[in-house]
Amino acid sequence: MNSCPTTFTKFTPFATVIIHAVRQQILSTATRTISCSRSISSSIVGPSGAIVVDTGFDEAMGKKRQREMIKPVRDGLEALGIAADSIKTVIISHMHYDHCGNYELFPQARYHLQDREMAYATGRCMCHQALRAPFEVEDVVAMVRKVFSGRASFHDGTSEITPGVTVHHIGGHSKGLQCVRVKTRRGYVVLAADATHLYAHIDGGRVFPITYNVEEVVEGYETLKRLATSPRHVVPGHDPLVLQRYPAAKAGLEGWVARLDAEPNYN
Ligand SMILES: [Zn+2]
Ligand SMILES: [Zn+2]
Repeated sequence: MNSCPTTFTKFTPFATVIIHAVRQQILSTATRTISCSRSISSSIVGPSGAIVVDTGFDEAMGKKRQREMIKPVRDGLEALGIAADSIKTVIISHMHYDHCGNYELFPQARYHLQDREMAYATGRCMCHQALRAPFEVEDVVAMVRKVFSGRASFHDGTSEITPGVTVHHIGGHSKGLQCVRVKTRRGYVVLAADATHLYAHIDGGRVFPITYNVEEVVEGYETLKRLATSPRHVVPGHDPLVLQRYPAAKAGLEGWVARLDAEPNYN
């Protein structure tokens, strides 16, 4: 059983948290169709500074993977008045190429990831093409360099990053996948990352094909629901509906940067 409270009772020092989803649209240039749509990076803005959850990928990687970059993560952060080079804390949900690139943008940041993800990305499973396909060796090497330069923090299961922000191991899609739970003005919001790519995955009990362990995927859906104040507090990692359901962070950012501590509109 998880002992975390699932209802929002009173404000904590992190009550002013603002969560934004920064769109990084993935457009397959091969088919000119939007596939798996948008990859969501989030910034959590609170009294102890901004935290970036997942760093997306850059234009060069997009080209290599036949993805056209529409809105880079850096631009999204700039639109919010956040300088990437001032970021002190980055949380990496897992090390697939679309979640841990752009590492040169955050020279001051300490990176938080699960023990199991680093072991998975550097161990025997990477001998198999089927398992290593979503990883990029340069991303993994960059993380190893952060370990050696003292800029990585490892977590095993559940950890608090700062008051009001916790990480939780999920696994399933990637062995060390973690979600991020944030206390906001509307309750506990859970940034699921690829623990549920789309709303349809968690709502229908469906499993995304890139999967290390199916049992952990479906159990992960239960964990996400338990951690979030309600199902409406779970934010999938790649669903374009996120940017329709949540209001823009400010005027002019519609369909690009959303505010996740606001009530979603499911109509
Ligand atoms: Zn992934
Ligand atoms: Zn992904």
